Amino acid sequence: MNVEKRLQEIAEKLSKRIDTLSCFACGTCVAACPISRETGAENYHPRRFVRATLEGEARRLLEAPELWLCTSCHACLEHCPQKVPVSELILELHNLACSLGIAPKAIAAEVENIVASGWALAPSESVNKRREQLGLPSIPLKSRGSKDLAKIARATELNKRLKKIKERQEAEAAEAGGET
Ligand code: SF4
Ligand code: SF4
Repeated sequence: MNVEKRLQEIAEKLSKRIDTLSCFACGTCVAACPISRETGAENYHPRRFVRATLEGEARRLLEAPELWLCTSCHACLEHCPQKVPVSELILELHNLACSLGIAPKAIAAEVENIVASGWALAPSESVNKRREQLGLPSIPLKSRGSKDLAKIARATELNKRLKKIKERQEAEAAEAGGET
């Protein structure tokens, strides 16, 4: 995927549907956003993603840790007077970041677990042992949908992205180890 080209397409689409000046003078989304409330608007502001995209600066944001603070609650979109799809934009930026191998370790590991087991919270042998002691039936370690999920992961190239993320994380760890 050509990330730069996709970012340009997104910016063009956004610029056609919003009144940029009103958006930059607004800020309603920050009052609705739980992450802004928790961390402070100076640290996290939904509009920053819109502005950076419109100004051709979104590539830099793909590397920014705050990109992953979004909970996808869509409160920004619901409160926005212009119905700017901020949360959808952030999801798109997540996808683009992943295609470059950029994602927090914990999120990548969680996605990997889901693809491997078909469970959001995979059971373990020890959980089943405890269930047996309590007279409860065991839970299959792989869900019924896990085969379909594996097919989807291959068809959507999610596997390739996960591999890229892992390789990048290993390279970063090796670099950090070399520096110490
Ligand atoms: S609420 Fe909508 S218009 Fe207002 S700053 Fe946020 S994205 Fe822009
Ligand atoms: S979707 Fe993300 S940016 Fe929008 S309000 Fe929720 S946490 Fe904030």
